[in-house]
Amino acid sequence: MRKSSQGAARLKGIRFLVCDVDGVLTKGDIILDARGGESKQFSVQDGLGLVLARLGGLQTAFLSGRQSRVVDLRAKACGVELVMQGRKHKVPAFKELCRRAGVPYTAAAYMGDDLPDLPVCEYAGLFIAVKNAVREVKQAAHYITRASGGQGAVREVVEQILRAQGTWSQVKARVLGRTNATD
Ligand SMILES: [Mg+2]
Repeated sequence: MRKSSQGAARLKGIRFLVCDVDGVLTKGDIILDARGGESKQFSVQDGLGLVLARLGGLQTAFLSGRQSRVVDLRAKACGVELVMQGRKHKVPAFKELCRRAGVPYTAAAYMGDDLPDLPVCEYAGLFIAVKNAVREVKQAAHYITRASGGQGAVREVVEQILRAQGTWSQVKARVLGRTNATD
């Protein structure tokens, strides 16, 4: 993850992680079949990352401009509490999610990849572009991930936030079934 000095400090105050779906939780491919069915491909490492986020005390949300049942299924599988779909305008949706989570915008991180995500940078305490994001989103971001969307970008962000907050070792230890891991 590329950090600006400002961005590094922002990690500490994050309590809520909002992820765009296509291009962030996926590589951006949408697989359609002739019957109108839709498939997406998710990363198992991102999935564990979302579980780790919760163990570390972060709330999580998915926010998509499109509508797909697989997104609800994925959220459920990863313990993601809040899901908002079919929202082309991301700013009002982001604000609503923050209200529902009971978290100020400044304590919310947002991960995006494309132009509809860009206006959220005015509000989110930490605005993150994935490696595969378009130029404008990268330019506005506090952070740009090393990993691409659908290939560990969410996991990377969760780890960075928990490390900055000093809870990573503890959370990792819980997953490993230990009580005293040091890294
Ligand atoms: Mg997207």
